[in-house]
Amino acid sequence: MCAKLLKEIEEEVTEFLSGLIRINTTNPPGNEIAAAKYTAKALEKDGFKCELFESSPGRGSVVTRLRGTGEKPSLLLLSHLDVVAANPKEWSVDPFGGVVKDGFVWGRGALDMKGMTAVEVTTMRLLKRNNVKLKGDVILAATADEEKGGEAGAGWLVKNHAKKIVADYVLNEGGGLAIPIGGRNVYTVQTAEKGILWLRIRAKGRPGHGSVPGAADNAIMRMNKVIEKLGNHRSKITLVPTVSQFLNTVAKEDKLLQQGLTLLLQHPERADQLLDVMAQQDKYMAEEIRARLRMTITPTMICGGVKENIIPSECEAVLDCRVLPGQTPEQALREIKELLMDIGLDKLEFEIIQASEPSESSMKTPLYDLILRVLKEFEPDCSAAPILLTGGTDSRFFRNVGSVCYGFHPVRSDTSYSEMQETIHGIDESISIGSLVFGTSVLYSVVERFMA
Ligand SMILES: [Zn+2]
Repeated sequence: MCAKLLKEIEEEVTEFLSGLIRINTTNPPGNEIAAAKYTAKALEKDGFKCELFESSPGRGSVVTRLRGTGEKPSLLLLSHLDVVAANPKEWSVDPFGGVVKDGFVWGRGALDMKGMTAVEVTTMRLLKRNNVKLKGDVILAATADEEKGGEAGAGWLVKNHAKKIVADYVLNEGGGLAIPIGGRNVYTVQTAEKGILWLRIRAKGRPGHGSVPGAADNAIMRMNKVIEKLGNHRSKITLVPTVSQFLNTVAKEDKLLQQGLTLLLQHPERADQLLDVMAQQDKYMAEEIRARLRMTITPTMICGGVKENIIPSECEAVLDCRVLPGQTPEQALREIKELLMDIGLDKLEFEIIQASEPSESSMKTPLYDLILRVLKEFEPDCSAAPILLTGGTDSRFFRNVGSVCYGFHPVRSDTSYSEMQETIHGIDESISIGSLVFGTSVLYSVVERFMA
């Protein structure tokens, strides 16, 4: 792209993102409608007609479409408008100030994922402005509620307005972040994500006076055993194809990691030992790989007791359990119950809060190949690898109805991969203006060539 166009992109995408961050869409309550209207207004400047949808008052999503001739499959550029909470006291800038300084845009959502909304909106505007002749429809949807599961956003739209939003291909969050390895970048493309089981366990007991511990049956002590058992459990290692390919790519790039990763690929049963060694160098990377090798169970909430001197008869804990492609939430529940057998299932109650299956898209598609080619053009010595996301995204709603979905928000490695990952849902989240321009340029090239 020429210098003038790059400058134009830079101003547009930065200003749009800064304004979007200033609209506080912390979910709950979300109140995404304000952000949906703001997005629509920006698109309308280039003549787009946008539709606003509300699953309930305030829970707004925006959808618009560029029509193609229908000779090629359709493509949806997806993002979510809501963000998780941010505590201003912990941040060095106002998380909802949309601050632009030191070449970065700062604020909650900069990476997850208002930054990609900005990149996608700018891409749409450029496609229209440049009068690109599209052979398939390009749809943009910026939706509510992803951070609470998406049922009031993308999930609701797929269920109630499928014609407006469902496309053959979907580009969404979950990948695209560069991992700098051995001086070169490995860009990730999310092709799969784990399934979710959010589970509440209630331990039962018999109440009594706190001064005579032996006479009662303390539910907190029972829960203590449950947490101890589940929190430390390492489930069986399973190497799914996406993860093997990812590890293969990383092993090729890094001489230091090569030996460890090659061993891991050959002897997955020794993965934990090898990852313990790797964690001494890069803890985040090692732990992320570990979580991609197995079902995980994480205690996330606990609550029990009513008064200082009463031995409680009930204690509740919530577990965030994630299953691999090929596994099901039901399987996870069975495994959990088996583990707790010797603690006594008769004194434990299980309640499923939310469950969703893992989802996966094939890497053998023209869009995946094109993403790789375009990245190479922008950065000849980079490589790309598919990843299995340990978390979940709205992509699953679309994979469930047959769309091919990739997580691909191209972001350069301005800081280390771990540092960047830790600001997501963390403190001082930011994205560089360079990354916004790079992201827009790459995405625009991909969409233009895929659809024209
Ligand atoms: Zn997100």
